[in-house]
Amino acid sequence: MSADDKNRQEIIRLALSDSPMPDIQIDGMPEFTPGWVWLAGAGPGDPGLLTLHAVNALKQADKVVYDALVSEDILSLVRPDAELFYAGKRGGKPSWNQQDITDKLIELAQDGHRVLRLKGGDPFVFGRGGEEAQALVAADIPFRLIPGISAGVGGLGYAGIPATHRDVNHAVTFVTGHLAGKGQAELLDWASIAKASPVIVIYMAMSRLAVIAELLMQAGRSADEPVAIVTHATTPRQRIATGRLAEAAKLAEQHNLEPPSIIVIGEVVNLAETLNWFGDKPI
Ligand code: SAH
Repeated sequence: MSADDKNRQEIIRLALSDSPMPDIQIDGMPEFTPGWVWLAGAGPGDPGLLTLHAVNALKQADKVVYDALVSEDILSLVRPDAELFYAGKRGGKPSWNQQDITDKLIELAQDGHRVLRLKGGDPFVFGRGGEEAQALVAADIPFRLIPGISAGVGGLGYAGIPATHRDVNHAVTFVTGHLAGKGQAELLDWASIAKASPVIVIYMAMSRLAVIAELLMQAGRSADEPVAIVTHATTPRQRIATGRLAEAAKLAEQHNLEPPSIIVIGEVVNLAETLNWFGDKPI
């Protein structure tokens, strides 16, 4: 464990030492049976966006395996005696791989713990939650899925951008930008998406923005089409930058916008000007 990790865990421990959360399930909600894994989405950041099922899980779990995108505010809701495991990646440093994570979940469940696997957003949306669930099934570990609010919907909402808006779009496509332009065209047909989807919401796109904008423009999207970059959506650090498709990469650079960010391309972006209820006006 690095010094950073230790520090983070210590801060969380201190925050928990006088945690007012009682060690009980929420009335009428499921009891967390020892030996089970609950795979839960924590939403995009704001703890208010947790579901009741997720809070019920946090109150009962005795082992919590969490990712980088799960905020400390949310982790502070765990039981004071729960043990936390950080499974996220942190810039270049060695981190758990997918196999380490599933091995840990299985080991903890087989030892008879109530294991909460907590992920940002929704576990089944670009979260590899499906793979983890498959590994649990293969190991005969019973599991429950607790969906969460995905950044591509809830994060946009906090930026005042509806994913769909009557008169603007009757379809929306959620894509990962991760592989764009890396000779992986067969995995994602950007030209077809450009033609078929008036609104495109892109996860994990920050380092590929220039390539993605180029692919979309080659497929006929206008260079002037509105684009929004929403960074740290739903948190006090949320920032929104809007501009034209042709300048998407420059926009991110100019305003120092970093991951985690959601990119939205399409006319719905214009609604942010009037509907941005949460923070500052778009920059
Ligand atoms: N399962 C998650 C997505 C995980 S992939 C979900 O459903 O939201 C990680 C990507 O999600 C990030 O690169 C970013 O594109 C997006 N993301 C997650 N949280 C975010 C946030 N608070 N603000 C902006 N983007 C976010």
